[in-house]
Amino acid sequence: MRRLRRTKVVATLGPASGSAETIARLFEAGADVFRINMSHTPHDRMRELVAAIRKVEKDHNRPIGILVDLQGPKLRVGAFAGGSAMLDNGATFTFDADPVPGDTTRVHLPHPEIFEGVQAGHTLLLDDGKIRLVATEASKQKIVVRVVVGGKLSDRKGVSLPDSILPFSALTPKDRSDLDAALDTGIDWIGLSFVQRPDDIAEAKKITRGRAAVMAKIEKPQAVLRLDEIIDVADALMVARGDLGVEMPLEKVPGIQKQITRIARRAGKPVVVATQMLESMISSPVPTRAEVSDVATAIFDGADAVMLSAESAAGQFPVEAVSTMNRIAEEVESEDTYHTIMKAQHAEPEATGADAIAAATRQIAETLDLSASICWTSAGATGLRVARERPQVPIVALSPNLATGRKLSVAWGIHCIVTEDARDTADMVDRACKLAFKDGFAKAGRRVIIVAGVPLGTPGATNMIRIAFVGADAAD
Ligand code: PGA
Ligand code: MN
Repeated sequence: MRRLRRTKVVATLGPASGSAETIARLFEAGADVFRINMSHTPHDRMRELVAAIRKVEKDHNRPIGILVDLQGPKLRVGAFAGGSAMLDNGATFTFDADPVPGDTTRVHLPHPEIFEGVQAGHTLLLDDGKIRLVATEASKQKIVVRVVVGGKLSDRKGVSLPDSILPFSALTPKDRSDLDAALDTGIDWIGLSFVQRPDDIAEAKKITRGRAAVMAKIEKPQAVLRLDEIIDVADALMVARGDLGVEMPLEKVPGIQKQITRIARRAGKPVVVATQMLESMISSPVPTRAEVSDVATAIFDGADAVMLSAESAAGQFPVEAVSTMNRIAEEVESEDTYHTIMKAQHAEPEATGADAIAAATRQIAETLDLSASICWTSAGATGLRVARERPQVPIVALSPNLATGRKLSVAWGIHCIVTEDARDTADMVDRACKLAFKDGFAKAGRRVIIVAGVPLGTPGATNMIRIAFVGADAAD
């Protein structure tokens, strides 16, 4: 079973897609990675979903990635006496530490950390950015604001602080407990929400200790400013356009998407473009032209994956949403323009054996019109460096580790087959040809290129390129 596209599809699971049958249908329609959103999923439910995904993986004998997305420090205001209060333009309003229900002059802000981080002049955005306030006075006890854009503020609406660095770690007590439960269940990727600084990722990695890879969700302006440092510590990035579009003006989001996808591609780390990609498909079986164009743009950006949120989690057409993404990716990637763009944006190899070999592999495969680039990779590093080249020739990764196959399921172009380590060079070449043939990547009589590190199983020692014929006995 192989996909006819390089861009991967991440589908969020939820009430519309939680049954084992629907998960199987989503996989068959094109979902490569399933996302479980811990903002809405209790631990028992998470474990059921993981078990259902692992069953689909077993039935189809293809590694499937699971991304568990932690809620992160989502901030909310307290409650009002009447359930809400009207904030008028130009009015003065106060946030304080008093849990007494609020009115049109004040409300409780139940996060002491906010009082540490906000300074006069900082903006506060409430209710998905609908209400805009500017702090005129800030202390440890209260924040006084002027209402710039007013509106009705109701109980427990979200608060965003685009200008303030808050002394929060990226992991709340709920995140810690969700993370432990997820790691115990054996998942592949952890999504970290509202990352502010590289240390947030380092802190999560101290807990994951390699048991899951860490995807930093870029949804705060503070993180956008420190992308260079964040990409060094994160294993992957997500362009989290939902909250990004609340914390920053919406018209800045497309440019930031370009910035994030480029920096991740240069680093050779996967990047996922997320949120509202096919939003109208929550209630319609066909997307809008603008949505199709948006998915296509992410694909032309060379993103590793495009993601569905509510479309697959809570919408009426989860399977159709996945197959729509699948079709868009197949079509866009068949355009000549796509390959021209991938070539033009191609990242220069770094001065390492793995990159020199990855670049040479692409060049040899394209020059000789080979059928596939096959790489033996234990932890996935070689596979990612080959994918970083965005080659026109399909990439097959062979790994003895199922965990590697699952992790690579989010990475551009990689079709990973889990197989035991090769015994010797002859076996390495022979098995590469047979497995590529079996999964439909090379016909008998065609040639492939094989990349490996010899001796096998030494991570980081990519040192061999071999061109091989797929023999007539490949089917044996
Ligand atoms: P969320 O993250 O769906 O967990 O909020 C994605 C986003 O903000 O775009
Ligand atoms: Mn978000």
